Amino acid sequence: MEKIKCPGCGHMIETQLQDFTDAAESPQDKEKIKSGEFFVVECSECGEKIFAEHPLMYTDSEKDLHIYLAPEHEDDLLEELNGIPLPEDIPASEGIFRVVSDGAALLEKIMIFDAGRDDRVMELYKAMAFEMLKEDWPKMIRENLLYASDDEGEFIIVWDYVNAAGEQLTMEFDEELYGRLEADYGAALSLPKGEYAEVNAEWLAERIDVK
Ligand SMILES: [Zn+2]
Repeated sequence: MEKIKCPGCGHMIETQLQDFTDAAESPQDKEKIKSGEFFVVECSECGEKIFAEHPLMYTDSEKDLHIYLAPEHEDDLLEELNGIPLPEDIPASEGIFRVVSDGAALLEKIMIFDAGRDDRVMELYKAMAFEMLKEDWPKMIRENLLYASDDEGEFIIVWDYVNAAGEQLTMEFDEELYGRLEADYGAALSLPKGEYAEVNAEWLAERIDVK
């Protein structure tokens, strides 16, 4: 059991935080992650709803996808996760292994892989989009850009930015640009098989200078 202090009434809420889910077996968990509900804890005393991100291993066994959400994790987490070498006669897994630091990044990864996209190419795509956008929006930061998809298609959301009409600023997804980046940079963005990686803006900057 975990204890969380209610910011509303000070009550110590005791709750069992779920630390694993397989989306292929529990689609309802996946829906809750998408709606944000998964990380909401309700105070039993005053009913206040508290958003409490916590470590979660998100697996999709059908896709062989493994995303470990580790909020505020230590710098050496990847070393720890990748530290146990496989015996030589066991081939490295063909699966996808990722670490993310917050729920927004987890959601973004889920949508990227659900759409059959590659998150490494998507980081490059977002970096290019950012270079274009910041000419008009000089205060924008790279982390504002998130990939999203819904029934209407795919787009890049610019988090925290709204237009004059109060609508979320979004960019239409450019299939042609994505395809070109995938063809030109796929090899430069390769990762060791079967190892966890935290694929984000920093990760990309260590490999490709987009400016
Ligand atoms: Zn309370």
